[in-house]
Amino acid sequence: MSVQTKIYEGKAKILYTTHDPEILLADFKDDATAFNAQKRGSIQGKGNINNIISSKLFQQLEARGIKTHYIDSPAPNQMRVKALKILPLEVVVRNIAAGSLCKQTGLAVGTVLKQPLVEFYYKNDELGDPLLTGDRLFLLELATPEQVDTITHLALQINKFLCDFFRRCDITLVDFKLEFGLDSQQQLLLADEISPDTCRLWDNSAVRDPNLRVLDKDRFRQDLGNVENAYQEVLQRVLKAVESN
Ligand code: UDP
Repeated sequence: MSVQTKIYEGKAKILYTTHDPEILLADFKDDATAFNAQKRGSIQGKGNINNIISSKLFQQLEARGIKTHYIDSPAPNQMRVKALKILPLEVVVRNIAAGSLCKQTGLAVGTVLKQPLVEFYYKNDELGDPLLTGDRLFLLELATPEQVDTITHLALQINKFLCDFFRRCDITLVDFKLEFGLDSQQQLLLADEISPDTCRLWDNSAVRDPNLRVLDKDRFRQDLGNVENAYQEVLQRVLKAVESN
């Protein structure tokens, strides 16, 4: 029997130790938060849905040579992952302007970017996860220049795969957030999750309707309703796309 001790509880997941110090168990929760946890709620079935979507996407990425923390999924809301030292960075990739990019630059929501934009945010709730400059990132020693280069390259590769994958789901990948960590050999691996909590996903069949098209956490953030249905819809399309691979 594995010894499970809770070592961390975040907004969307609980992490437990296992009998193997190199392996952790992530328990995906239905709890939902937004705006730095000022808005709180629950999305029924979210834990299962986000774990299944993330597991499938990590498997697909691994098959394409991108290393992730994913090991396997022993239960619908559980993922066994490699124990990593997570870098305190939120790496955001954007294809279309939305969210904070529009608030901070005045770009209109829906503006198609000429090329993907990779941004680094400081993962620090007390500071409200501020946008970093390269110099600030190095000043705070959040990662080395080599790690930043590798992360940028990986983030663009992951974006290319995810854009193609979601296109086959009839979904446009607007933007998403990634996290990376180091294993015991200092190898950089993709961590956390890739799900409707961490991606903006717009339904191509409703792309002209700014409310109907949203299939992600913006339905919760903006009280658009039908949150569970949207998450379910993404899951069904992801499963279909994986099957038809
Ligand atoms: N994102 C995330 N966690 C965060 C902040 C952002 O998963 O703590 C995701 C978000 O869902 C979106 C992308 O990163 O897909 C870009 O988010 P943005 O910077 O626009 O922030 P927002 O306005 O969503 O807070």
